[in-house]
Amino acid sequence: MFDSLSEGLQSAFKSLSGKGKLTEGNMRDGLEIVKKSMLEADVSYSVVQDFMDHVSEKALGKRVLLSLRPHEELVRIVNDELISILGPVDSSLHLKESGPTIIMLCGLQGSGKTTTCGKLSQLLKEENVKPMLVAADLQRPAAIEQLHVIGRQLDVPVYSEKDNKDPVKVCRNGIAKAKAEGARVVILDTAGRLAIDQELMAELQRIDKKVAPDQVYLVVDGMTGQDAVNSAGAFNEALELNGVIMTKLDGDARGGALLSVKHVTGVPVKFIGTGEHFDALEPFRPEGMSSRILQ
Ligand code: GDP
Repeated sequence: MFDSLSEGLQSAFKSLSGKGKLTEGNMRDGLEIVKKSMLEADVSYSVVQDFMDHVSEKALGKRVLLSLRPHEELVRIVNDELISILGPVDSSLHLKESGPTIIMLCGLQGSGKTTTCGKLSQLLKEENVKPMLVAADLQRPAAIEQLHVIGRQLDVPVYSEKDNKDPVKVCRNGIAKAKAEGARVVILDTAGRLAIDQELMAELQRIDKKVAPDQVYLVVDGMTGQDAVNSAGAFNEALELNGVIMTKLDGDARGGALLSVKHVTGVPVKFIGTGEHFDALEPFRPEGMSSRILQ
């Protein structure tokens, strides 16, 4: 991930290093390379524009141009701006003091929702917090079985109903069971679709309204680049999201979606998925990500 963006930014910094004092023209050339690398990494155009406005304003100021090492100043400015568009940091699940905290996961089919249910359960178990999973994806019969398989692998209880066609009722019954069994977190695995459609959104809105989860997280596939950003925008309009979990960042994703999604949704990226295993979930840290980009 980020290989091409890293290379692009390095070449921008290199073009300016060793020149001693820079002219405004030199700096503008370097900034053009920064912009091109961002666009090539699939960062949304509006995000690149905002980013470049902020970076350019600082980089073209007298203080930077007249400094002894202007290219190092540019690295610092780009780093600060990357952290700012990736932030804020908030990987807390905001667990309630009493009663179970209800977390609803939503997203397109194949984005990694069901796998992420397992990953979050593993994380909670490591913290001695008891989770329960609720199979609220009633569209795909295989989804219920997939959740049970995960539950058995992790020794986490899974609530499902065979013949109930109403996900709201299944969620409510699951939450009642979780209360009775003393689970502290209930994770609702909702239905996805291959593309955004009204029926899916209406179902999710209904669950959101009637079940009133404490946290609603959108799971997006980071490999899908600009599509991930567009679907994040659509989900964010339909639901009040509390955070995003971006999966599949272990693949050859160019990383642009990660840089754009916070800008588009206004909610933090809470975790990133970096593999198929249950331990492949990392709390998202903008500083760490920025230094990975700039390494
Ligand atoms: P759902 O339809 O949203 O529930 O998606 P699934 O959880 O079934 O995941 C779809 C596919 O993506 C499965 O093959 C998962 O193993 C895979 N997957 C999920 N998260 C990740 C991840 O972070 N990295 C990789 N490489 N694969 C993932």
